[in-house]
Amino acid sequence: MMKHIVTLADGRIVPALGQGTWYLGDSAATHDREVEALRRGVDAGMTLIDTAEMYGGGRSERLVGDAIAGMRRDGLFLVSKVLPSNAGRRDIFHSCDETLRRLGTDYLDLYLLHWRGNVPLAETVECMERLVRDGKIRAWGVSNFDTDDMEELWRIPEGRHCLVNQVLYNPSSRGIEYDLLGWMNGHDVKLMAYCPIAQAGTLRRGLFDSPQLIEVAKRHHATVPQVILAWDIRNGNTIAIPRTGKSAHTLENAQADAITLSDEDLALIDQAWPAPNHKVPLDME
Ligand code: NAP
Repeated sequence: MMKHIVTLADGRIVPALGQGTWYLGDSAATHDREVEALRRGVDAGMTLIDTAEMYGGGRSERLVGDAIAGMRRDGLFLVSKVLPSNAGRRDIFHSCDETLRRLGTDYLDLYLLHWRGNVPLAETVECMERLVRDGKIRAWGVSNFDTDDMEELWRIPEGRHCLVNQVLYNPSSRGIEYDLLGWMNGHDVKLMAYCPIAQAGTLRRGLFDSPQLIEVAKRHHATVPQVILAWDIRNGNTIAIPRTGKSAHTLENAQADAITLSDEDLALIDQAWPAPNHKVPLDME
């Protein structure tokens, strides 16, 4: 088990560093390398794997299925997401079955609504609860929900069973710190940080060559992506899900678990990438 862990509201404990899978599984040429990277990640303690029916039209889920074949199911924490257009009574049960089939498993640890669509939230909640009762999923959550969406969810009685909200978060995208994160902490909804290294810095110019991040990395004999991941998971309420198709990067990311940033490190990072002082629209990818 990793040093950094997160305890979900239902008592389950997950590693604070998991593995993302967007764009993985897209090409036969990289299949074996990507399977190997995911397996090395699990061996290194990143036993939480995040995927979605949307990714590669099911190819990412199939890749995860290949990677986890033969592994002990109870040593894994599998997360997948339903597309908004499938998140109603008509389609969600089929979608979930197809996800399970592609993953080669008979239950998900967590099932997320990928983003809000046209299906009424109350209907999605009712379906998620039925999937829990049917044993297809252990629990559910949401993704790309801002504060007003969470408040609306909380007005649906069983909406309060939502365990996580997966949103974009890294030092260069801190908008949620203004109000969403406080709301989530107050209601015991954990953050799953996607794009936790800003897609290797490509989402924000200057992140990877930020002098402050380089300085902190030097202090810890670490790399910039490791410092960014350590920053993401610094408070015990966040699960970061970096994605890589390369074993060397997987291991590098897993080793971020060993880093604890000091107050001086955090202050230096704040200088370069300050926390928001006003409401910022939710960042999405
Ligand atoms: P990310 O994890 O921030 O960045 C991925 C990129 O970083 C890849 O290009 C990867 O390339 C590179 N990388 C990984 N580790 C590295 C390292 N140690 N050194 C240098 N480069 C490194 O971005 P993301 O994939 O967009 O987000 C992570 C996961 O969050 C996704 O895979 C997906 O599971 C989830 N997600 C969810 C949503 C949503 O709407 N809910 C949206 C976006 C993402 P290499 O393969 O070359 O290492």
